[in-house]
Amino acid sequence: MAKINNNYLKLPGSYLFSTIAKKVKTYGEANPDKEIIRLGIGDVTQPIAPDIIKALHAAVDEMGNADTFRGYAPDLGYDFLRHAIAEFDFKSRGCDISEDEIFVSDGAKCDCGNIQEIFSTDNVIAVCDPVYPVYVDSNVMAGRTGKYDDELKQFKGVIYMPCTKENDFVPEFPSEVPDLIYLCFPNNPTGTVIKKNQLQAWVDYALKNGSVILYDAAYEAYISEEDVPHSIYECEGAYDCAIELRSFSKTAGFTGLRLGYTVIPKRLKVDGTALWDLWARRHGTKYNGAPYIVQRAGEAVYSEEGRKQITAQIAYYMENAKLILNGLKDLGYEAFGGVNAPYIWLHTPDGMTSWEFFDHLLEKANVVGTPGVGFGPHGENYFRLTAFGSRENTIKAMERFKAL
Ligand SMILES: *Cc1c(COP(=O)(O)O)cnc(C)c1O
Repeated sequence: MAKINNNYLKLPGSYLFSTIAKKVKTYGEANPDKEIIRLGIGDVTQPIAPDIIKALHAAVDEMGNADTFRGYAPDLGYDFLRHAIAEFDFKSRGCDISEDEIFVSDGAKCDCGNIQEIFSTDNVIAVCDPVYPVYVDSNVMAGRTGKYDDELKQFKGVIYMPCTKENDFVPEFPSEVPDLIYLCFPNNPTGTVIKKNQLQAWVDYALKNGSVILYDAAYEAYISEEDVPHSIYECEGAYDCAIELRSFSKTAGFTGLRLGYTVIPKRLKVDGTALWDLWARRHGTKYNGAPYIVQRAGEAVYSEEGRKQITAQIAYYMENAKLILNGLKDLGYEAFGGVNAPYIWLHTPDGMTSWEFFDHLLEKANVVGTPGVGFGPHGENYFRLTAFGSRENTIKAMERFKAL
């Protein structure tokens, strides 16, 4: 008789974004005359840039010609893409990452969800609180955690590291030493970044304790300030303790095309075993690559024109972020992020809970955001707004904030 994986039952039923969708639908149906503006979803809105579209078209044509047709992609991804990644994302920043330490995939969410497979289920994980939910959920499914505690709104057996305005949303070292440490900077949902010396301290901590850092740099392209590392490999010793996850989703609008990559330095060892070997083995059995045409599109992201075009897209979103951040501050709100990330993390006014503020904003301003508590218990009394809307809607939303 077949048996299910009981760990899946530990995950609470209602997913944050489906609850939001239900609430918005109910409100919209009851108030059909109201124009709802969505500043809640973490998805891009700008179309794929022209030079990337050109590369896609060319690759599609190649697939229809017997001489240039491609079948299964190489396990680690095509050389042309891994070469461009190594040059532009690492060598140009002084990081000694070679092409064969880069594993191309169909996105960072998939890699975040899958990377835990190469570690023992005995490992204790540490995550920031609040945080992108994928890290914890994938470890729950794998049986690396205890049950969900309804009162604490946390899983047992997980080390949660509070990120609050008191610590500038950068976690402190936990009292119990974790085996696996998930860090994400620039952060979703808080929009905050970590300075190089602070990240170096985490690398030193991991080296001292034999922990592995899983570093999610999906928003690296949004960094605007100096002294903020774009890659964890800018820190000394990171080659021996860190895996980095990257995505083309927020950088170049690939949320629908699907492309990302994971970096595992060859010298990174746990218990004498190179993690590179384990992940390569996984790639040999589970098809985790992006299609040829998408990898060609990824290559075009690094072309001179491609880079210009995506830089302009990011600047567009960051102009929205500035409008939101400054608009909120002018109105007396306490707001964070929005300078090195497309997220603004707002402290709810008048002691409102995250969900109270969600309802208030939906009903009074017809603006949708994301309740901070959905990202973890320390997200309570916070609220996330995103810069991925159109300029017009962002301006309109801020006018409605004024009228609140
Ligand atoms: C959006 C996002 C990703 C990217 O996921 P993809 O699967 O590549 O689209 C990864 N990490 C975080 C924190 C994100 O917000």
